[in-house]
Amino acid sequence: MKNPVYTFEKLKFASFEFTCCEGCQLQLANREASLDAFFSLLDVRTFREISSEKHDDYDIAFVEGSISRSDEIERLQVIRKQAKILVAFGTCACFGGVNSLKNRFSTEECIAEVYDGQPIETLPIRKISDIVQVDLSIPGCPVAKEEVERIVVSLATGSLVTLPKYPVCVECKEQLNTCMFDLGEICLGSITRAGCNAVCTSGKTPCLGCRGHADDINFPAFMELVKERGLSVSDLQEKLGFYNAFEAYRDDET
Ligand code: SF4
Ligand code: SF4
Ligand code: SF4
Repeated sequence: MKNPVYTFEKLKFASFEFTCCEGCQLQLANREASLDAFFSLLDVRTFREISSEKHDDYDIAFVEGSISRSDEIERLQVIRKQAKILVAFGTCACFGGVNSLKNRFSTEECIAEVYDGQPIETLPIRKISDIVQVDLSIPGCPVAKEEVERIVVSLATGSLVTLPKYPVCVECKEQLNTCMFDLGEICLGSITRAGCNAVCTSGKTPCLGCRGHADDINFPAFMELVKERGLSVSDLQEKLGFYNAFEAYRDDET
């Protein structure tokens, strides 16, 4: 008997960048070993990291970066109108990311420090879902390549798209890492969504929660742990604010 031949229509795919370092798009473009197979699923219409061609007919849009200017708002709204599926791609897009640190300073302070007083338009940083409806979020600073590939395969084949519900600690323990708390550091791994393979803690760096909170976290118990270990609650608040991914759990007064 002959093997069946499966055919499917390639997804018309476009990728766009807003205020960010473009590291998430580069994660995809740099993965040479699987790039051919990955892009065989996609009809790439716009993706400036890999092609100078630009086409406006796409079904799925990956949107990287946060929003910091009025022209970005208009551009994002145009993308939303065109895309059947809009994906917030990376921590900047999902939560605001490191760019959100800017919101702690006045525009005048930022311009004086960073742009030497040159006039520049800059609004408070907003995540993509503050402006338009988002159909799917892929967190990570940067995103995990294997996870993105798995999600794109799911989209291309019409399968259910899922993110891990459990925390980074699971992946960290699978790798038999010494817990950062036992080394006297605050680590957000027990409240952060897994999927990065505990890349930071495996390198002896505490998790700063770039993937946002895991499902069903026990935040009061986590706070108790930090206090029991005699660690600084204000350091914890700094860490919670680093990627702006724990907005609901931060308390600037502590
Ligand atoms: S999420 Fe991180 S890697 Fe991705 S664009 Fe933002 S700053 Fe860069
Ligand atoms: S180092 Fe962090 S991620 Fe690893 S087990 Fe400890 S709290 Fe969890
Ligand atoms: S360990 Fe934490 S900060 Fe590091 S990549 Fe994973 S979720 Fe992000």
